[in-house]
Amino acid sequence: MTSAYIALGSNLDNPASQLRRALRQLNCLHQCQIESLSGAYSSAAIGPGTQPDYLNAVVKLATALSAPQLLGATQTIENSQGRIRSQRWGPRTLDLDILLYGGEEIHTQSLQIPHPRMAERNFVLYPLAEIAGEKLILPCGGVLGSLLANCPLGDLVRTQVSLDIEHEPG
Ligand code: ADP
Ligand code: MG
Repeated sequence: MTSAYIALGSNLDNPASQLRRALRQLNCLHQCQIESLSGAYSSAAIGPGTQPDYLNAVVKLATALSAPQLLGATQTIENSQGRIRSQRWGPRTLDLDILLYGGEEIHTQSLQIPHPRMAERNFVLYPLAEIAGEKLILPCGGVLGSLLANCPLGDLVRTQVSLDIEHEPG
């Protein structure tokens, strides 16, 4: 089994329930199990036009899937939750980005790991640090803490929204 960290984000159609649904689907993937989950963070959208705020979280998944298989699975989940790819960085019901896959570095056309924009995204780094710790070593040899030191918290807020999928109906 490999530990993968996946960032979840939503700013449409009840973001909290979108994230809970996605977590349930990830946990149900063949030979995949959620190991830990961050709190839910809210932040203003970056991207074109005026958009609703985002709700973001990061999950650690133990998986026997290869990295490309995991990408395929996350895209199937995005599509099943009505993800429409109309506009780059436009509003979305669900975005699943693979941040890290074990200690691997992957640079193919369809998959880049570590996720190329994670270092500049507070809504990724802070929830990741919450579950992985600031001492997490990245594939390049750096530590998560030094990325955090260069990424201000800004308007990011850790909310009280529960993403618990075990005690929530529907
Ligand atoms: P973004 O997440 O940057 O807003 P999208 O979710 O629309 O953009 O993803 C666009 C493409 O990014 C996907 O088709 C996928 O092939 C590619 N991609 C490359 N690396 C990754 C990764 N680590 N996790 C998820 N998608 C990735
Ligand atoms: Mg994405």
